[in-house]
Amino acid sequence: MADPGHYDVAIIGAGIVGCSTAFALAKRGFKTLNLDALPSAGYGSTSASSAIIRPMYTHEVSACISHECRFIWQRWPDFVGLASSEPLARYDECGGLMLLREGELEGKQPMMNAMASAGVTFEVVGGEELRRRFPDISLDGYGPPRAYDDPAFGSPSSGAIEHAIVVNEAGYVNDPQLAARNLFFAAQNHGASFQFNTAVQSIDQEEGCLRLMTSQGQVIADKVVNAAGPHSSKVNTIAGIDLNIGLRALRHEVAYLSHKIAHFEKGPCLIVDVDAGVYQRPDGDDMLIGTTDPACDDEDVIDPDDVNMNLTDHWTRQAMRAAQRFPQYQIPNQAKGTVGVYDVSTDWIPIYDKTDVHNFFVAIGTSGNQFKNGPLIGEIMAEVMTAPDHDHAPAQLALTHINKRIDLGFYSRNRTIQETRGVMA
Ligand SMILES: Cc1cc2nc3c(=O)[nH]c(=O)nc-3n(C[C@H](O)[C@H](O)[C@H](O)COP(=O)(O)OP(=O)(O)OC[C@H]3O[C@@H](n4cnc5c(N)ncnc54)[C@H](O)[C@@H]3O)c2cc1C
Repeated sequence: MADPGHYDVAIIGAGIVGCSTAFALAKRGFKTLNLDALPSAGYGSTSASSAIIRPMYTHEVSACISHECRFIWQRWPDFVGLASSEPLARYDECGGLMLLREGELEGKQPMMNAMASAGVTFEVVGGEELRRRFPDISLDGYGPPRAYDDPAFGSPSSGAIEHAIVVNEAGYVNDPQLAARNLFFAAQNHGASFQFNTAVQSIDQEEGCLRLMTSQGQVIADKVVNAAGPHSSKVNTIAGIDLNIGLRALRHEVAYLSHKIAHFEKGPCLIVDVDAGVYQRPDGDDMLIGTTDPACDDEDVIDPDDVNMNLTDHWTRQAMRAAQRFPQYQIPNQAKGTVGVYDVSTDWIPIYDKTDVHNFFVAIGTSGNQFKNGPLIGEIMAEVMTAPDHDHAPAQLALTHINKRIDLGFYSRNRTIQETRGVMA
């Protein structure tokens, strides 16, 4: 049965976002309860994350937050403060690069400005240097990517890869579910409560509080945070919230290919390859191949309660696009990979904000790119939730590693919708 106690904050969801929020609020002395329909922390979309940590973003705030988080991932054991016997997620700084076709470098100036403002070190290298570092890379141009059923799929287009933006201060977290679990234990150590196998079914105002009916009974809280991942718009609906920014659940597949055959001089690294329509990141002997959602592919908008968890021809098309860049990849007959769902906002920027329902907050719309910011999402929410008037005087967040202050109005539900339309937001 649900604890009938009265909580300061009920958090719907115990993924990386819900656990981070619990950790930050519990550290500030709030009595919190996370409710999750699944059996444990990080079992939702967080478990399928590619967990890439990179500062390549168009917007300055995004680059600053992600770069600040990179320092926290580097010091993860100190951040979560768990006993040394506890298994911990590990950040591997393998470095990364973004491939650019002829004429594309100039268009990346906003991204380079954003990274420079965040204090990221990066370099631009030309095709010759790229070929030296990646002897087996194909620098043929393939973009814009073609649909899988296009007869010309896999044939080079005119033009070639001319530059790469190389960022050494980038990498990945080896086990995103474990990272959420680390935050779950860390939050518990500060007094946070969690209740699993508990679905929130309705939310009503009651005498200045919010009453949540769950599959296990009733919970009363002063404030509620929607951290329901791909179910965020369903939870908004039961709370009576209709935001200006749209949300949709987008199914994604990630293919695993052995990198032992492809040649990386200094070991495999992250590769953002919008020209071929994929990103790649190492994982043991494999590379994880995800999509950059090129315009030629239909969006796989789904009901998050009815997800096809089988790998499909999306797996094949991603594997083949990766093999355009590294023709040495062998595509196995047996598909190996994973399926996950993004919670996508109209401009692919999250909404970390209050709402028009009194004391109901949202940490949603993470758009396939917010795992990396997991360590700070809780801090963002804590600042937003304790600000006297966040809509008119937005809360700020101090980023101590990069020595910046960030205006959290950037994540407002009332923001002007940005032009960004993809996971690289
Ligand atoms: C395939 C894939 C690749 C990705 N790659 C990257 C990457 O490389 N780098 C990066 O930074 N980000 C990446 N992301 C994005 C990142 O993983 C997500 O932004 C993040 O994990 C979302 O966390 P969350 O806590 O919001 O959601 P979730 O982990 O889905 O947690 C939400 C929780 O809410 C619970 N819930 C929902 N509704 C209810 C309800 N009514 N009652 C109770 N509980 C409820 C669910 O059970 C779930 O456990 C990727 C995502 C996917 C799917």
